[in-house]
Amino acid sequence: MTDSRSVPARGLSTRCIHAGEKMDAEGAVHMPLYNHSTFGFASTEALLDVVEGRREGNLYTRYGMNPTIRTVESKLADVEGGAAALVFSSGMAAEAATFLAHCKAGDHIVCIGDVYGGTFELLGDNLPNLGIETTFILGSEAHRLNEVMRPNTRIVFFETPTNPSMEVIDISAVAEAAHGAGVLVVVDNTFASPVNQSPLEQGADLVIHSVTKYLGGHSDLTGGVVIGPEALVQSIWPSRKNLGQMMAPEVAFLLARSLRTLVVRVRQQNATAQAVAEFLQGHSKILQVNYPGLGNFPGHAVAKRQMTGFGGMVSFVYDGDAGATAAVVDRLKLFTIAASLGGAESLVTQPITTTHHGLDPAERARRGIVDGMVRLSCGLEDAADLIGDLEQALR
Ligand code: PLP
Repeated sequence: MTDSRSVPARGLSTRCIHAGEKMDAEGAVHMPLYNHSTFGFASTEALLDVVEGRREGNLYTRYGMNPTIRTVESKLADVEGGAAALVFSSGMAAEAATFLAHCKAGDHIVCIGDVYGGTFELLGDNLPNLGIETTFILGSEAHRLNEVMRPNTRIVFFETPTNPSMEVIDISAVAEAAHGAGVLVVVDNTFASPVNQSPLEQGADLVIHSVTKYLGGHSDLTGGVVIGPEALVQSIWPSRKNLGQMMAPEVAFLLARSLRTLVVRVRQQNATAQAVAEFLQGHSKILQVNYPGLGNFPGHAVAKRQMTGFGGMVSFVYDGDAGATAAVVDRLKLFTIAASLGGAESLVTQPITTTHHGLDPAERARRGIVDGMVRLSCGLEDAADLIGDLEQALR
């Protein structure tokens, strides 16, 4: 294998295509799929060179020592602006490995704002069994970070924009407070994608994605990634290896394919979501529209500073109870009722039925995740068709 395309600093679209790619002996235009679980050596000495780190080489796929895996990791690190990346079998696997690698029994995490329901469960139900406790604060309470951090706090974790309320958390302000106390800042950048937001540039220490969403982009793969400086990322590697959380090479190959079109997909989704949010804002049956690109949205000013686009996700509150809201959702024809987001096809969900179904109803209410809330993932259909679909469903 020769690295025929080491790429100097270039624009994001160019990096999405060329970063990490190596031409193999057959001259394929991008890294082929090496589905192999293991790799052979000419001698014991050659094997030991790889095992003992004197030479980068392929060894065993669960370790990540596989050319297809390495390619997608290099590409992801470059695109997110980090030195290193580790891919995982899911976004939840990436989160779990990060928490387990950087916290031990007796440690403490602070989680700011709304997060994906599975993340609530991991932090609130699973990690306490291992002696790792989490304090949850609302996004509007982020300024209280110094009060809630403890001497044993290791990580401040948040999404921005948040799921499903689209709340915008100020990354650099949180990073300043957390770093003052020697605490790591981990940002889930799934909703924004690297096209719209670069948390590492704004002070985050590690970035996590559910690549199942925008990075995969076609609703046909499940995976996760953690990206950041070499030492912080590499300290997560033993957790991934020993907990067996590796991404399959077929998935890594599909993911690299998807990353080549990331920028064009996300920019169109940004434009469509803006148009959809503006339509919803003017509708008499809608009580509230949550989209960082709306000038009157509370997070707009921070979003304008820390994002270069406002993303493809919109949520709104319908003027009706759970049943009436479900009826609107059921009348949609182009938005498919489904959990997940970020694909080419538009999706719709009532968070109380999917992503936040498991959350205590009182806690949901406290967070404004009301029965009438609907979350839209704007896909790549024509914006006018999506707006027409919403118009008929709301009629
Ligand atoms: N983070 C966010 C923002 C999500 O929406 C999700 C899943 O919906 C996850 C993490 C978990 O990702 P995965 O389903 O790939 O495990």
